[in-house]
Amino acid sequence: MRHLLDLSKDELSAWLAEHGEPRYRAPQIARWALQRGVTDFEAMTDLPAPLRATLASEFTLAPLPALATRIADNGDTTKVLLDLDGNGQAVEAVRMAYDPDEDGVPDRTTVCVSTQVGCAMACAFCATGQQGFTRNLRPSEILAQILHFTRERRVTNVVFMGMGEPLANYAATLRAVRWMVDPDGLDMRQRGITISTVGVVSGIRRLATEGLQVGLTISLHAPDDELRRRLIPTSGGTTIDDLIEAAREYTETRGRRVTFAYALLEHVNDEPEQARRLAQRLRGLQAHVNLIPYNPTAGAGLRRPSRERVRAFQRELQAAGINATVRVERGQEIAAACGQLRTDVLGKPKNDEATSQAASIEWHG
Ligand code: SF4
Repeated sequence: MRHLLDLSKDELSAWLAEHGEPRYRAPQIARWALQRGVTDFEAMTDLPAPLRATLASEFTLAPLPALATRIADNGDTTKVLLDLDGNGQAVEAVRMAYDPDEDGVPDRTTVCVSTQVGCAMACAFCATGQQGFTRNLRPSEILAQILHFTRERRVTNVVFMGMGEPLANYAATLRAVRWMVDPDGLDMRQRGITISTVGVVSGIRRLATEGLQVGLTISLHAPDDELRRRLIPTSGGTTIDDLIEAAREYTETRGRRVTFAYALLEHVNDEPEQARRLAQRLRGLQAHVNLIPYNPTAGAGLRRPSRERVRAFQRELQAAGINATVRVERGQEIAAACGQLRTDVLGKPKNDEATSQAASIEWHG
């Protein structure tokens, strides 16, 4: 049975029109499903009973059951593993509460969502990448991760930084985003949503045309293409120059500064000289670099740099005039890096090929 939240608002309106219902029913139903988080059409008490029955005969609003929940940081970080089909497929979502956040804004709650089961990008430092790709999530499954948490407290921000590459599941990601920002949907600020990509240039260009003000983070992880291809074996013909050009276009079109994510791996990409080369490439771009000290994942054989090395890398960037921050560490004890809870609870899935590929890469140092 189809999930109601796989429909766009226009599709829901069209379905209602076909059933002889007035236009205002679509916002009414959306508010029940997304703002109040009801999971049963019978609870939509201001809809006529026959409409409730027809909706229930064609659609479901079922939430995703939680297979495991881990809590850290005195309750400020919660990670959940949500069951998709009851056949061992599951995705992770993480809620992080900040009060205040780094900009002094009180009561910020960010949910990090997944967009795919596994991921085809095979990043060498990522537990999800080592699991291989299973399938894309549907819009309702992306929204379910947020709804899981909104039933407890308001969610102000969403980051697409969980399992999977959001721009490789473009249609579902965008459909979910449109429900997030719809005043009858989750009614979130567009600027409170950040899409994070490992570098799907066509997707970045398309996103720039959507008329949305969502934030964009592009993962670089290296100052040169040769090292980047070793860390992201699927990056293929996409060069750092291609990504910088796409970022420039996005900033010009949307008026939003782009963030570059850089996972710091000891003696692989964290040398001061590499920071200087990175700064050189980003010069002149209204960019911000978010440094992410590597969160060790099983099997990748990579190390996290010391705090001193992280600071030294940041200082080099700053000295060259690049705005650089270090990601605030959250949920260390619940393995907040994407894919780890799934691996812990369900074990390593099928794709041993990606794991051996990661292990066979020769690292600097
Ligand atoms: S880091 Fe992101 S893009 Fe790379 S394999 Fe992991 S989930 Fe996929």
